[in-house]
Amino acid sequence: MSDLIFSDSFINGEFYKTATRFSVDDPATGKSIIEVSDIDEQGVNTAINAAKGAFVKLKATNATERSDTLMRWYELVIKHKQTLATLMTKEQGKPLKESLGEIDYGAGFIKWFAEQAKRSYGDVIPATDNQHRLTSYKQPIGVVAGITPWNFPVAMVTRKVAPAYAAGCSFILKPSEHTPLCAIALAYLADQAGFVKGAFNVLVSQNAKDVGKMLTDSEVVRKFTFTGSTEVGKQLLSQCAETIKKTSMELGGNAPFIIFDNADIDDAIDGLMAAKFRNSGQACVAANRIFIQRSIMDKVLNKLTSKVAGLKVANGFEDEVDIGPLIYPEAKQKVQQLINDALSKGASLIGEQRDLGGSFQNPVIVNNVTPEMNIYHQEVFGPVLSIIPFDDEAEVLALSNDVPYGLAAYFYSQNIKQIYRVSEALEFGMVGVNEGVISNPVAPFGGVKQSGLGREGGHQGLDEYLEEKYVCIKV
Ligand code: ADP
Repeated sequence: MSDLIFSDSFINGEFYKTATRFSVDDPATGKSIIEVSDIDEQGVNTAINAAKGAFVKLKATNATERSDTLMRWYELVIKHKQTLATLMTKEQGKPLKESLGEIDYGAGFIKWFAEQAKRSYGDVIPATDNQHRLTSYKQPIGVVAGITPWNFPVAMVTRKVAPAYAAGCSFILKPSEHTPLCAIALAYLADQAGFVKGAFNVLVSQNAKDVGKMLTDSEVVRKFTFTGSTEVGKQLLSQCAETIKKTSMELGGNAPFIIFDNADIDDAIDGLMAAKFRNSGQACVAANRIFIQRSIMDKVLNKLTSKVAGLKVANGFEDEVDIGPLIYPEAKQKVQQLINDALSKGASLIGEQRDLGGSFQNPVIVNNVTPEMNIYHQEVFGPVLSIIPFDDEAEVLALSNDVPYGLAAYFYSQNIKQIYRVSEALEFGMVGVNEGVISNPVAPFGGVKQSGLGREGGHQGLDEYLEEKYVCIKV
């Protein structure tokens, strides 16, 4: 199909239709794009069996074959870049130029893991006597199940499925009910690329809780990988405890973005605009608490105010658009509640609140945010800059770290000693120094504390799908 729009789950290399259907809506217009099949219990079981059978077949493949297959998948995704990006803007809402960027970024994981497939080395361990030979090598963990969110409908899928296939694991994916179309298109292209049938199954469902429970309860599923909220992650982690599954959890964040008084201010503002407003602020690594050293506050705010005023909010298909709609109207209500709570507790608004209708939220700056306000503690997931003044390094480090999350942190400084000190002291899994966009398929993405477990991307991303086997031979 030329537009790559499919309406059914994808199991064992075939579409799986059910009678119960639900609508996938365009967040910009609120109108239905298509009605999709809602998976039934039989479908989930069929997918588990298909993945089990595919794992046996995958064992008969070698790393070079899997690498070649992944490379063909990569090429198909790039070939259909425009179509996939259009599909993404339709179901997710982000500006088309961001969707095009996500296709490159998401395809980058496929290419990286196609390369890494050939590099899952083991160890030869020097023995402690002359009678033994000790080795340790990597084997695929088996059937994997994964649940992904709606904010990056392609990249969140490829960063899980590509390393799993590279390792020799089969996959059952339940994408977000808001953005299943990109996931089905990816599975279709993987099949065209020559994936083993049943190695990449997509279950489309509106009933995440029950499908998730069937997957976590299954003895066949040996690994569970999730990207989403900390709240749901905790629940899934406890469900996985029953069968002691290996787990990866990419959960929420509350990223500090610190501008020290010695920073290059123009550079810092450019970094902040990217770290905050990409995907309308709907990213777990989005800058959430903006700490500005008091002595440069006025200068930064003046420049920031004019930049924010210049942002164009519109349907992601319009020219020169910077900010698309939020994913659904309730998301906008939540953002507005956070703004209103902050204003009622003493914060001030720079710019005006405009009602743009539908799920569109205009970008605003909320100044003088304090820890008493909900906006300080929650992921805003919207185009709102929460500004917090600080006086010195020790104070801002204490404030930055004083949250249960530890995903991404950013700071701008031109003092090399401060750069080392602060990057080492921040309790976060990822730190951007003089850079607001840090995600990269070649580097380990992940959090500490309640932001998650495990890493995606980098050479570490492959290990998440491998078990280590130690072999001791007496000679
Ligand atoms: P977000 O706020 O990004 O939607 P969620 O954690 O609610 O974050 O959703 C992320 C993914 O988790 C989605 O695919 C959603 O369908 C799924 N999900 C939500 N609740 C549950 C649950 N109780 N069990 C399993 N999956 C869930």
